[in-house]
Amino acid sequence: MKAALRLAGDEPGRIRIETVEEPRPHAGEVLLRVRACGVCRTDLHVVDGELPSHRERVVPGHQIVGDVVARAPDVRAPEIGARVGVSWMGGVDGTCPQCAAGRENLCDAPVFTGYDREGGYAEFATARADFTYPLAEALDDAHVAPLLCAGIIGFRALRVAGIEPGERVGLFGFGASAHIALQVLQAWGCDVCVATRGERHRAFARELGASWVGDALERPPAQLDRAVTFAPAGDVVVAALASLRKGGVVAINAIHLDRMPQFDYDSLLWGERQIRSVANMTRQDARDFLALAAKERVRVRATEFPLERASEALAAVRGDALDGSAVVLP
Ligand SMILES: [Zn+2]
Ligand SMILES: [Zn+2]
Repeated sequence: MKAALRLAGDEPGRIRIETVEEPRPHAGEVLLRVRACGVCRTDLHVVDGELPSHRERVVPGHQIVGDVVARAPDVRAPEIGARVGVSWMGGVDGTCPQCAAGRENLCDAPVFTGYDREGGYAEFATARADFTYPLAEALDDAHVAPLLCAGIIGFRALRVAGIEPGERVGLFGFGASAHIALQVLQAWGCDVCVATRGERHRAFARELGASWVGDALERPPAQLDRAVTFAPAGDVVVAALASLRKGGVVAINAIHLDRMPQFDYDSLLWGERQIRSVANMTRQDARDFLALAAKERVRVRATEFPLERASEALAAVRGDALDGSAVVLP
């Protein structure tokens, strides 16, 4: 099969399109014929070497939409022929203290798709059967793929922020994840303010119905109940904090921040304001979000790239050149 490969020794950013052996499902796994795979910023961290290599060779990609074409003998579900999704959480041990406490997103021994195990920039991929999600027919491949990480983890960020229906919520940064989160907030009757760099992103936020749109560090006209930051910049977290009412929460949806700047405790954090990070996702987050996305017909803006041009897709995300998401089609 054809696949995009990241080799540990290659220079940052390089992937190779090569013909490799088709994978076979091991115990507990299914084999998927990949229909589409969304490009996530975390793929860049893998391909650019910002996350240390866990393997000599890996196929990146962790927003996989595929058809089940084979199953290991011990697998009962999903059915052969089912269209399913696979996300960043490729598996957990199920036995560590975090898993035992129902916090599998914080598992001590997680396995990540497209990092610890082969991902979806390929014609075929295997996945743990219990880490696949059935997909409703309402959304086509290219428009459901970006829901699988950008969507699910953005949804988790809204949960971590503790958003209640009808609240005023700020989204700081407006890319693949935020443009989906905005639509979830609208479904919950929230008033959404968007602060982001770049006039094109601001126009996109206005088009999707944000009630106020401003520059990255600009303060919305009224205090926010909650905020979610998507930009990997500590200054943005402080700007979000400065926009909050007492008792408000900032959830940071970023796996990496450039730095955390010093800020004034008395005026910014006192008054029971909170800053929380958002780490990974649980399978329940995935199921709840995908059900909501199908019901609300969440619209994703997706730009498609054939597998041979996966490098261009990554470059477009790296250069912030797209509205919405990039999707690789094998
Ligand atoms: Zn665990
Ligand atoms: Zn991701």
